[in-house]
Amino acid sequence: MSETIDITARIAGAEKVVSVCPYCAVGCSTLAYVDDAGTLLDVEGNPESPISGGHLCPKGSAIFGLTVNTARWTTGKYRAPYSDRWEDRPVPWLMERIARRVKATRDATFVREVDGKRVNHTLGIASLGGATFGVEENYLLGKLMHSLGVVSIENQARI
Ligand code: SF4
Repeated sequence: MSETIDITARIAGAEKVVSVCPYCAVGCSTLAYVDDAGTLLDVEGNPESPISGGHLCPKGSAIFGLTVNTARWTTGKYRAPYSDRWEDRPVPWLMERIARRVKATRDATFVREVDGKRVNHTLGIASLGGATFGVEENYLLGKLMHSLGVVSIENQARI
């Protein structure tokens, strides 16, 4: 039977990596703990963060649970029209399908001019980014959408 004095923190001996919360423009600093195998053990607020002093909001506090979570889906899901169930599909299959639909919608709705002014946009596609997108993902998404002429671009996090 182990004594209380023998119990150690699960992050004892782990490497501490200074990082940043990926979710919003506040940019709270975090501490990520990894073991020798590179497995993430925990993520917490960094007390040296000049912005948050070690605190994380509810979203930032969930970084570890989002990353290490046995309930998280790891395969692509597809629900066919009129179906009541999700089916596993390979990610390349899903990407191909999405790309074809984006192309068809853009071709059908792209507008070059409005009232004699060049606009080169489509109002047939909108982009809604999730709060779990990081800064770099949002940057790339913005680039992609602008290149397609999409002007309705929104994200839950204010970046
Ligand atoms: S989502 Fe929360 S914890 Fe993350 S940077 Fe924004 S305020 Fe900080």
